[in-house]
Amino acid sequence: MPFRGIRGQIAPAIRAGGRTLVGLDRIEVVLPDHQYAIHVGAGVLDQVGAIVSPPAAGRAAALVADETTGRLFAPRVLASLEAGGWKPTLLTVPPGEASKSLDVAGRLLCELADAGLDRGSTLFALGGGVVGDLGGFVAATYMRGIDFVTLPTTLLAQVDSSIGGKVGVDLPQGKNLAGAFHQPVAVVTDPVALESLARPQLLAGLGEVIKHAAIADDGLFRELESLGAVVLEMRGGELEAIVARNCRIKADVVSRDPHERTGLRATLNYGHTIGHAIELGAEAWGLLHGQAIGLGMIAEARAAVGLGFSAPGVADRLAALLTRLGMPLSINRIEVDVDLALRALRADKKVVGGVLSLPVVPEIGRAEVREDVGLDQVEGALLGVLD
Ligand code: NAD
Repeated sequence: MPFRGIRGQIAPAIRAGGRTLVGLDRIEVVLPDHQYAIHVGAGVLDQVGAIVSPPAAGRAAALVADETTGRLFAPRVLASLEAGGWKPTLLTVPPGEASKSLDVAGRLLCELADAGLDRGSTLFALGGGVVGDLGGFVAATYMRGIDFVTLPTTLLAQVDSSIGGKVGVDLPQGKNLAGAFHQPVAVVTDPVALESLARPQLLAGLGEVIKHAAIADDGLFRELESLGAVVLEMRGGELEAIVARNCRIKADVVSRDPHERTGLRATLNYGHTIGHAIELGAEAWGLLHGQAIGLGMIAEARAAVGLGFSAPGVADRLAALLTRLGMPLSINRIEVDVDLALRALRADKKVVGGVLSLPVVPEIGRAEVREDVGLDQVEGALLGVLD
């Protein structure tokens, strides 16, 4: 199932709350039963209340943030919501993956009830992928589902996790094991929020940016090649065009395959089958998410080249780009629990009878899913990135 990438386009300024918000990029996600817009613009966190108006059903809202994003951005967002006619209550959780739990979700559900939110209320999730997944899960379950708006503040959340409606929490038995599809009513994305982001979080998002370029946008890939390490120094508004372009790629994929049924959405897993296995195996040594996904893309690209599914240049160009961004192309096997990584690979739900369905990139900017990749070949590719 081939997938051709889409080109960026300049979106017009939009009118909101009686004012024209100049320079705002508006990207539509069109689903069979729901449509929403991603609003991307520098400083737009001050405009949330103007962009998203309270529905007739109610003005009550919860603003869910982690302690860091709450400290950095909540006062501005609360002021903007109040100016827009909302009655928001701020609820915070500790930062980090540990908050993506049933315990924290349960606590938030009780706090929504204590704050008097009803079925017409709205939950705004202000933060990275953790707050988005957790807040979305809470919104999906409170009173069988209330409206949900994401305000993503990490690069990974802006280009990836805030779009597509996958929400959930982790269980002790594994990541993302309890969840739902719950689409937001709007996404408001402020690239200036990325100014305070630490380097590891920037790299985590860049891994997804490179993936999007590889599977869907050869022009973006070429731009990243010419920017090289400069992209690591880009901040805030400078990243706006890259963020908007990536939102378009993800929006296009999830619009065409919202529930991962046609295989198109599965192309977004490029690099993640081996990447997640390595990430799990190297967790104790602190391998960064972006680095794990980079290693996964290299390993999967080499496997696909070996199988004749990809042109040889794909793996070479990926390797050159990752190197320019300071991402490793291999990892010392002392820093990986290899048995654990291989066990994770074999337990992948895409493995059936020793055969795996794997996204491959025949040429940069185009992806398809192969249903006939031998597990032994993928295991070999994983072992190939160990020194
Ligand atoms: P995160 O939400 O934990 O954020 C990382 C850290 O950055 C946190 O400490 C946070 O407080 C801090 N932070 C957030 N914004 C900041 C800012 N602007 N300035 C300074 N610090 C800031 O991590 P993440 O990488 O954004 O998200 C990871 C999660 O996303 C994982 O749980 C993963 O499973 C999930 N995810 C979901 C999807 C999806 O489709 N739903 C897709 C990919 C990943």
